[in-house]
Amino acid sequence: MIMDKNNILFKRWVALLADLVRRASTELPADIVNGLRKGNSLEKMSSGAQNTLCTLLDNIDIARQKSVPMCQDTGTLSFWYELPAGADTVFFTEVTHAAVMEATSRGWLRLNVIDVPSGKQITDNVSDGNPSIYFTTSNKIRVRLLLKGGGCENVSTQYSLPDTGLDAGRDLEGVRKCLLDAVWQAQGNGCAPGILGVCIGGDRAAGYIKAKEQLLRTLEDSAPLPELAQLEKRVLEDANSLGIGPMGLGGNTTLLGVKVGTLPRLPASYFVTIAYSCWACRRAELFATPEGEEIAYG
Ligand code: SF4
Repeated sequence: MIMDKNNILFKRWVALLADLVRRASTELPADIVNGLRKGNSLEKMSSGAQNTLCTLLDNIDIARQKSVPMCQDTGTLSFWYELPAGADTVFFTEVTHAAVMEATSRGWLRLNVIDVPSGKQITDNVSDGNPSIYFTTSNKIRVRLLLKGGGCENVSTQYSLPDTGLDAGRDLEGVRKCLLDAVWQAQGNGCAPGILGVCIGGDRAAGYIKAKEQLLRTLEDSAPLPELAQLEKRVLEDANSLGIGPMGLGGNTTLLGVKVGTLPRLPASYFVTIAYSCWACRRAELFATPEGEEIAYG
């Protein structure tokens, strides 16, 4: 069936989603801003770390005031939809694509997608598999969006336990060693201070998606299982004692948060997957009616 893109419902959803993209790209969530401010207060006066964090905070303010992207890399877009059973996912895929095109034409997204292997720019940021869209069933309509930069994606990584080089076994202590190794290897690349989205278990592919999804959680949020909440807290403290600091220039603010989720695994494998986000952890969400009217946003 051919979609009527002049239909009022279609246009309303495109406008709603394009604005969601604008918010994600230009308005850093309050909890991340607070995390950067807190880091700033813990750094030595006039140190490289403090100067870097001040520059980031100024940049974040300007982006919000002028409604312009906070970073030149507007990232890979991932949309997570929660929709009532039987909802038309083709419709939501089409409106998402149209919204990304609209946000690109308005300058809220940089032209950021390159065809492989031709190396040619994709002129509207929409292509096969881009943006990523995930659907789950719910009794409400909720859309969550994450913009994740390429620099931090380069330092995302995956471990297979046991890992003899790290002396890491198949337990939470082994996971902790992997997470600290990933932060140490990154050394500020990926634009620290970062946030670790983590998945323990799953297969390689599912682990990366689940790890990325953890980045939708706020910095205040703790894992529901006490042992995972404890792991999140411990790794955050340990990582911030490594001295890597903002952009790897030294200091106390290497990570802003650690968010751990799990998936079931096979007996033969035990993966630890890390989606490393830079400070620009650009997430936004909305709740809406089926008619495309926003009820609330976050
Ligand atoms: S890693 Fe993040 S902050 Fe660094 S350039 Fe990429 S999007 Fe920007």
